[in-house]
Amino acid sequence: MRETVFIGFGSNVGDRVDFCDRAVTLLSLLPHSHVAGISLLYETEPVLDHAQPGDGWFLNGVVQLETDVTPKSLLDILREIERALGREEENRSGPRTIDLDILLYGQHIINEPDLVVPHPRMHQRRFVLMPLSELDPLFVHPLLQRTIGQLLAETGKQPEVRLLFPQPSTRYGSRPSCSPPPGL
Ligand code: AMP
Repeated sequence: MRETVFIGFGSNVGDRVDFCDRAVTLLSLLPHSHVAGISLLYETEPVLDHAQPGDGWFLNGVVQLETDVTPKSLLDILREIERALGREEENRSGPRTIDLDILLYGQHIINEPDLVVPHPRMHQRRFVLMPLSELDPLFVHPLLQRTIGQLLAETGKQPEVRLLFPQPSTRYGSRPSCSPPPGL
């Protein structure tokens, strides 16, 4: 059955815009799915590390996917995309080329060892709630029974989250499926 799913993405190493763009492009290619919305990009102070200027900051955003893919299969696909984009398995908490999380899967509540939905920390994270509220501020969190807009209004102002300015000129998901030959 088709469900509305929100996937959070973040990158804090290398060409962060490019990693986010590639991840969204790969999501837009999933079968039995279509990307219904992509948030703007936000720059986010790292939550765990001490705040450092420049590269340590995350770029974050959210994709809305309408999909028939089951939660478990979707998680496998997200892990596969993370691997394809060079995320290091042995140091998952270190700098990340791309991090993908299932934030919400319709109104489903999932509590499996390897998959918890709604994402257990999403309601405390402004870097999730800000892009999510752009896409659907009235979406109701199935456990907390509060809208995304309400949850955002209840979070503190730290750590800092700011809109990336200027936004990249590329449109997400519009990356050509193959690169031109070298030299062109
Ligand atoms: P992270 O290092 O933050 O990307 O965490 C990834 C691990 O969290 C994976 O091994 C997943 O099995 C697990 N996990 C649990 N719930 C979720 C979720 N809602 N979305 C993504 N990963 C999840």
